[in-house]
Amino acid sequence: MNLQKAFIQTDVNMLNDAQGISADVLRLDVIDEVISGNKWYKLKKYIEAARKLEKKKLVTFGGAFSNHIVATAAACRIHNLESVGIIRGEEPLKWSHTLIKAKQEGMKMVFISRDDYREKRIPVELLNEDHYLVNEGGYGLPGAEGIAEMFKEFNSTNYNDIFCAVGTGTMMAGLIKASLPGQQITGMPVLKNMPGIENEVKALLSTEEKLKAFNLVDHYHFNGYAKYTHELLHFMNDFFEINKIPLDFVYTGKLFYGISQFTKQNNFSGKKFLIVHSGGLQGNLSLPKGKLMF
Ligand SMILES: *Cc1c(COP(=O)(O)O)cnc(C)c1O
Repeated sequence: MNLQKAFIQTDVNMLNDAQGISADVLRLDVIDEVISGNKWYKLKKYIEAARKLEKKKLVTFGGAFSNHIVATAAACRIHNLESVGIIRGEEPLKWSHTLIKAKQEGMKMVFISRDDYREKRIPVELLNEDHYLVNEGGYGLPGAEGIAEMFKEFNSTNYNDIFCAVGTGTMMAGLIKASLPGQQITGMPVLKNMPGIENEVKALLSTEEKLKAFNLVDHYHFNGYAKYTHELLHFMNDFFEINKIPLDFVYTGKLFYGISQFTKQNNFSGKKFLIVHSGGLQGNLSLPKGKLMF
């Protein structure tokens, strides 16, 4: 993993005719194949805390296609921590690429029923062992603080609008924390029906941070988490052809597609955008072969 590799790619073509917008992309996808994108930064402070408390084992929750699960497995291996993933649902006959990779990285998988998962019930045998618990998807203040630290490493003074995809909202909260006066952070949820998401983001902000400019645009989730259409994949292929930037269909594909549509309907003329490419490319392995040209 090479955190120095992250960079800002300038003058990206958003594949629409919106006039007068300049779009740059923060390429967090290039730092590592497994822990690509935002996950390393979200995990950093949890791992520091676990080590400070001299925990040997980190336990977290996720679904069978969770980037957080595979990133946690890899980050723990690097830091000599044991990792356990509590996975939603019965063990599938055919494991996803995500689960296989996480296991290769040394994670122990525990499958629990959807009901138990909803209640976040930790199996007793795990509860009895000393461990450090990280929320599902890495949601929490340490996660947001890791993102804020990362973002401050880049000079963002020129940007009016900063865009990101939203799962748990942790990354968005981190960007709000790090944002400068006059900047607007726009998050696009990739899950359907998340009426609580704004409060989840706010719960990670201080009173002053809550007064900063941010909003959620909730139209581009394509009917739910990891759902997609031909149109979305078509956009991702075109986008790659023109900009040579690969996107993932779960998060960043929807984000970039959403921005390309959103900017047609609103007047952003003269604005400078910074779009966060938060990685997640390993998720594309679960698409049928031949759908993507990259
Ligand atoms: C996890 C993830 C997100 C969402 O981050 P949250 O902090 O949960 O909102 C966005 N993009 C990618 C590629 C991810 O893997």
